[in-house]
Amino acid sequence: MRSLKGLQNHVAMVTGAGRGIGAAIARRLAADGAAVAVLDLKEELCQQTVSDITGAGGTTLAVGCDVSIADEVQAATEKIAKAFGAVDILVNNAGVIRDNLLFKMSENDWDTVMRVHLRGHFLCSRAVQKFMVERNWGKIVNISSTSALGNRGQANYAAAKAGIQGFTKTLALELGPFNINVNAVAPGFIDTEMTRETAARVGLTPEQLQEMVVQGIPLRRIGRPVDIANVVSFLCNEDASYISGQVIYVAGGPKS
Ligand code: NAP
Repeated sequence: MRSLKGLQNHVAMVTGAGRGIGAAIARRLAADGAAVAVLDLKEELCQQTVSDITGAGGTTLAVGCDVSIADEVQAATEKIAKAFGAVDILVNNAGVIRDNLLFKMSENDWDTVMRVHLRGHFLCSRAVQKFMVERNWGKIVNISSTSALGNRGQANYAAAKAGIQGFTKTLALELGPFNINVNAVAPGFIDTEMTRETAARVGLTPEQLQEMVVQGIPLRRIGRPVDIANVVSFLCNEDASYISGQVIYVAGGPKS
């Protein structure tokens, strides 16, 4: 893995980092030199990522936190600040899907997706912005999705992921004067537990679903978590210091 080591003396908080895309981002930011707080619903879910990072010589901390609960987010940021002094990089990655066609979608499935994605992004960003403002330096990267452009069976998720794009652009306006860059990465189809569970739900093996999906991807391959981690790393490093309020699609084409 290429490491810029450009994030030494910085502290990153990555949500939903126990597995999948979040785990790859946490490992990459640690390789770039940041101390990385690995957040997931329960502390024990963070252990694999934490041991990967420590095994590679990085600095890390496991934090159990439901991003949709304000008290837990507050306690998590206090724990990280106590261990590492501050948080100046936030990656809002934690996410869930509750797919269904509109006429079958329950209120609970709508609310759960809104709570984890929109409320989660809001609570985590609000909790850490003060550290960034104090340091006059900060990076927030939000994880949107190509589903923001519309995806059958995902009215809740598409609305949340499109909402994240508006949230990103607004924070870029509000926090820019404090030298804080706020951007979003919108992945296409990435091979993780999330997409493997989707395959199971529609009665396919992960390989069968991937074979179908790949036909619509111009680069003719499924995305890997590291493809997203590479772009998040770029956005957090100084080479990207004049980029803010942008949504970068990482999908093997303009849209998949
Ligand atoms: P994943 O494998 O399901 O990982 C998501 C992680 O977030 C899990 O560890 C999950 O914990 C955690 N999480 C869920 N709710 C949480 C909460 N309330 N508080 C804290 N952590 C929570 O999914 P992924 O594929 O890596 O997706 C990561 C992000 O990328 C999500 O925002 C997703 O919407 C987005 N994305 C994914 C794809 C894709 O194709 N995979 C494409 C576009 C965008 P549990 O395991 O306990 O549920």
